[in-house]
Amino acid sequence: MKRNITAKIAIIVACILVISLNLNTLAQVNIEDAKQTVIGWADENAEHISEISHQIWEYAEVGLTEFKSSDLLVSELEKSGFGLERGLAGMPTSFVGTYIHGTGKPVIGILAEYDALPNGHSCGHNLFGTGSVSSAIALKEAMEKHNIDGTIKLFGTPTEDTHGGKVWMAREGVFDGCDVFLSWHPGTKNDCNYGSNLAVQILEVKYFGVPSHAGAAPEKGRSALDGLTISSIAMEFLREHMIEPMRIQYIITDGGQAPNVVPEYAQMRLVLRGPMMKDIDELRSRDGGIDDCLRAGALASGTDVTMQVVGAFYNKIPNRTGSDLIIENMNYVGAPAFTEEENQFVQTLADKYNLPLSGLDSSIHIPIDDTGKGSADTGDVSYIAPLIAFNTTTSAPGTPGHSLTNVEQVGMSIGWKGLVFATKVLACAGLDLLTDEGKLSAVQKEFQERMEGVDYHPVIPADLWPPIPKEQPADFKGPNVPDLPEAEKPESLLYWKIK
Ligand SMILES: [Zn+2]
Repeated sequence: MKRNITAKIAIIVACILVISLNLNTLAQVNIEDAKQTVIGWADENAEHISEISHQIWEYAEVGLTEFKSSDLLVSELEKSGFGLERGLAGMPTSFVGTYIHGTGKPVIGILAEYDALPNGHSCGHNLFGTGSVSSAIALKEAMEKHNIDGTIKLFGTPTEDTHGGKVWMAREGVFDGCDVFLSWHPGTKNDCNYGSNLAVQILEVKYFGVPSHAGAAPEKGRSALDGLTISSIAMEFLREHMIEPMRIQYIITDGGQAPNVVPEYAQMRLVLRGPMMKDIDELRSRDGGIDDCLRAGALASGTDVTMQVVGAFYNKIPNRTGSDLIIENMNYVGAPAFTEEENQFVQTLADKYNLPLSGLDSSIHIPIDDTGKGSADTGDVSYIAPLIAFNTTTSAPGTPGHSLTNVEQVGMSIGWKGLVFATKVLACAGLDLLTDEGKLSAVQKEFQERMEGVDYHPVIPADLWPPIPKEQPADFKGPNVPDLPEAEKPESLLYWKIK
């Protein structure tokens, strides 16, 4: 009898234990365990991740030709069981990798870039793309192991530095449906500032005149270059009457063929920057604004002028709550230290390139408002849902952006340490957002407050596409070059973003 009671008690205790364990997994995930899973994954795979980044560093494919780089990142995602879509927004080297667990909510978007510049990976996107893809895979591991609901969408975004690939993807609705975006960028320190940057519009302006012998019959000619010159003088006077920190920048991309022929054709690349897109719209359309200056040039020279928006990035909507979340996770993970040899390597570079480089920075900086005067295609993404973007140390302070000094550091252990650290921080922050409704809604609340009364619509025209190369390697596993409308495609679309 006594044994019977003991057995019954044992069964009841076991039942209570099973129920409480089940309730525990249903009610809340042990976030510490989940974070240790992603950190452990990154440590175990550190060498592999570094190798992938180095492979992309060696490919060094410039915007829209990232064939091998996108194939490599896609294969990593496929091996890990992500569903893949490729060739979005008309760009064969774009892709989206998706992993869904349980209810599929919330949806976290992660941005990845992998384009090089003509001098190599001088912006460190070999690390950027690899780190983002790796954090997505680490998150999937943790979601499976700890039964965490949610969706991870890894966005492979081509040609950031050349054509602003994200803007085309935003226009085509590729980023829609995410609750929050996480991103990072190689840098000279570990930080997550909450400053904005400037919105930009890039305009192609064309003047059409009447050619004539400039010596024998100048009276019969109407100079397209005159039209362009007069418009630029009008814009010089306009500079005095615009808000800070608006900018007007232009170059003449075609000023005629020979001085003894009245130019029949002239062309200008015009870059307008302002705090918000509406400020640029206002500067263009107001009385005596940019559009009037362009018309004035045509009117005074007897020529015609056409204008086309060939590129536009919104300014970034910052998120202070998100910045704090990243710094919390940077401190949790712990920033990597650099060795004597690595600092020695920096000194060698300082001598080689004659630059004042400081020792590698392994501290974690508190977030500040560092609103800058540059522009980036992540701006458009930050208008769709809150974007949290941070930097890790992948090169020494004083390293100029887009320089060969940077190429060298992002292709060796300095860059790899920043890459593994970024992988861990992004995945840990992702876990917080997946499992803690309070944290996600605080980030979203700040976004909604900042977006009150602010409108977002893609500014690039609907019939305009990026200049996709006609040829692609036979072994490229992505989709073929799409059949895009022929409208105005060739040279006029080859604009360069000026940072
Ligand atoms: Zn970059």
